[in-house]
Amino acid sequence: MLIKGRSTDYKYIGLQMLYNRLPKEHAMKSVINSKMLSTKAGIIGETVVEAIFEKYQFPFNYRVLHDVSLISNGKFQLDTLFISPYCAVILECKNIVGELSFENDPPCLTRKLQNGQKDTFESPKVQVDRNMYLLKEWLKERGIRIPVRGVIVFSSTKSKIIKPPNHTEVIYASSIPVLLRNLQTQKDYISVIQMDYLAEQIVRENQTYFPYPMCINWGIDPSDLITGVQCGECGRFGMVRIKRTWLCPACSYKEANAHVNAVKEWFMLIGDQLTNSECRRFLHIQQHQTVTRILQSMGLIIVGEGKATKYQMGEKMLSGHKNFYTDRKMFIRS
Ligand SMILES: [Zn+2]
Repeated sequence: MLIKGRSTDYKYIGLQMLYNRLPKEHAMKSVINSKMLSTKAGIIGETVVEAIFEKYQFPFNYRVLHDVSLISNGKFQLDTLFISPYCAVILECKNIVGELSFENDPPCLTRKLQNGQKDTFESPKVQVDRNMYLLKEWLKERGIRIPVRGVIVFSSTKSKIIKPPNHTEVIYASSIPVLLRNLQTQKDYISVIQMDYLAEQIVRENQTYFPYPMCINWGIDPSDLITGVQCGECGRFGMVRIKRTWLCPACSYKEANAHVNAVKEWFMLIGDQLTNSECRRFLHIQQHQTVTRILQSMGLIIVGEGKATKYQMGEKMLSGHKNFYTDRKMFIRS
């Protein structure tokens, strides 16, 4: 039974936004681009695993939770957690194609592509071991006794494992049903009631991670970013405020609420508290009063009074706008 689906990928949304507002020649542009691509590959891999759980059922009671973030002796994030009466299985999902070798000293995953290109990744074995340890601690704190297994899942058969890790299972996503069907043993560690209690606790304690403001996380000077309101039609920055609407000087597209995305981007990229003058600079508006009206119409949290007034975007607003970036036309070009 599916208890929790995948959450919105705020990390990917944040990377897209940052990439979108970094000038072409910026030193971090290619770094953000490759991070964006690897994050997207990860999302695709997790979607493959999710689709398997939609397709297959297992002949015993079980609960499936995707994209779980918890805290015990540290924060940990599980791509998929499968809970059965016999054990809990962490599925750490990877979407890395090529010839792969798990190296030990230092622990890493190396990849060789057909064209000879070589790359190094953080070791999924280290991630699985850490997640197993932290989940065991989390369960112990709640008095739940159940064995924990960790498995690395490659979503594509284009991942050729040349050198597997020691003492960690590695499978392709297509083998998940076989692996899980074979879990059934004589001994039940937890009952169905305990399983439901456990799943409920996980959902309750799940942490939503907002990786904002992106500039701070990536050490980028906010003054490097492209300012202005972006045209929803042609993607150019610098729409002009005319009467109560915005006009694109390049393509003549008009949009009354074009500023809304720009203000949200300011919060996700630059900071927690926005002042009137910062907003004027970012949106390219001269009049103090126009910006006050815009900010007050957006349902932001207002802190302070008079000249010291600052605006904040609440968590509800951040999570409430999960679709705003994916729904709008994207202008990402690599
Ligand atoms: Zn335009």
